[in-house]
Amino acid sequence: MSNDLNTRIANLVRPEIQELHSYHVPDSSGLLKMDAMENPNAWPGKLMDEWKDRLTSIEVNRYPDPSASGVKAGLRQLLDLDAIESKYDTSLDILLGNGSDEIIQIIAMCLASKERCIMAPEPSFVMYGMIAKFVGMAYHGVELGEDFEIDVDIFLQQIEAHNPALIFLALPNNPTGNIFKLSDVEQIIRATNGLVVLDEAYMAFTDSDLLELAAEHDNVVVMRTLSKVGLAGLRLGFLIGQTPWLTQFDKVRLPYNINVLTQMSAEFALEHYADLKAQTAKLRSERESLFTQLQALDGVSPYESHANFILVRLLDKNARDIFEAMKQSGVLIKCLDGAHPKLANCLRLTVGLEQENRQMLDALSSALKQA
Ligand SMILES: *Cc1c(COP(=O)(O)O)cnc(C)c1O
Repeated sequence: MSNDLNTRIANLVRPEIQELHSYHVPDSSGLLKMDAMENPNAWPGKLMDEWKDRLTSIEVNRYPDPSASGVKAGLRQLLDLDAIESKYDTSLDILLGNGSDEIIQIIAMCLASKERCIMAPEPSFVMYGMIAKFVGMAYHGVELGEDFEIDVDIFLQQIEAHNPALIFLALPNNPTGNIFKLSDVEQIIRATNGLVVLDEAYMAFTDSDLLELAAEHDNVVVMRTLSKVGLAGLRLGFLIGQTPWLTQFDKVRLPYNINVLTQMSAEFALEHYADLKAQTAKLRSERESLFTQLQALDGVSPYESHANFILVRLLDKNARDIFEAMKQSGVLIKCLDGAHPKLANCLRLTVGLEQENRQMLDALSSALKQA
């Protein structure tokens, strides 16, 4: 690069952006991919054929339906929003995003100003803090307590001190896998003047369902995604909240953010949601068996999980060495050592098919013996 170009960039790009690193996705070619909480299952053959048939009717020369009304209708039915609306005598709406990442960005853009901040427990989903930077807001992480539970006294103090415009709570939390106590969540909702986004990306792997909190409280919206149930490649996240909130957020959404292929495929998937449900139910039971096997492994302490991954702490080996050794043997997991002090020597393992989990465990157990 010429000096002139560097100078121009240094002068023009916001300093906080210059300091950032792009979100890094490691190359997984040739590796068993157990780092990103994907559903390992393809669609059953019959569904695949039907889906391909439908794809042929798509007109890619046309813009998509700007409001993706077919997808929203499918979700409305799946979530039984009509029932919640009448129970709480309120009106709920859905906002669709190109992944829930885009929804986080949309909400942040609507609320952003220099004097305002975003707050979230830590460790949690890294995009909350990154997107705060993108939109020029301050970010305050509030350290989780024992067993990664929220320390409510500290959280309420931090709310008092910083008066956040926006709070993100992931339930189950990524990367820890636990679900915060409902009573803690409700205390936070009551204490803040800001908007609380309940991120239920992993709700398919739990019995927890906090959707009604969005109808019950004026400062709560609920965010979900199709990514972790088997459609990560489609990029479809959705936000459910009271209509006045969603009306504001929809102004900031780019008009055609959900493309024709995603709209059609998501509508189709929602019609066959029972098949996806069956896959996630199976993964849930695989999680239990993986957890038991991890408990039996010397030198490894797994944390109980309500999601499709398990966080483990290594007791006497170096997590980075184990991560590298597993990669050498063909298994890609996520090393969290260095991501946050509370994650020292931690690895995150995605739950896969029985045979994938076995391969991952074998790789882990040989890596522990070698290192
Ligand atoms: C994976 C994940 C998401 C988002 O995913 P999209 O693929 O962008 O929908 C959101 N929140 C948490 C906590 C996640 O782990």
